[in-house]
Amino acid sequence: MKMPKKIRTFCPYCKKHSIHEVEKVKKGKASSLSWIARQKKRKKARIGNSGKFSKVPGGDKPTKKVFLRYTCTECKKSHTREGFRVSRFELVEM
Ligand SMILES: [Zn+2]
Repeated sequence: MKMPKKIRTFCPYCKKHSIHEVEKVKKGKASSLSWIARQKKRKKARIGNSGKFSKVPGGDKPTKKVFLRYTCTECKKSHTREGFRVSRFELVEM
């Protein structure tokens, strides 16, 4: 889908509709210090089958979730919304 860089939407700070600049937010990677990462390391360190960790990781999903940040041009504050799944996403100049 194509999305204009500037859209008119509701600003929760001004409590009214105003022009917002749209910015794509990159999703952060999972921390290597997570519980599952430590479990995996422990299991792989030993001899033999690594149990449930020997499974081949599944393929990529056909679509990626896109997260957007909306910055209000009036109060300069930004808010985010729940991301949505779309195969192709680009911001276009309007
Ligand atoms: Zn605002």
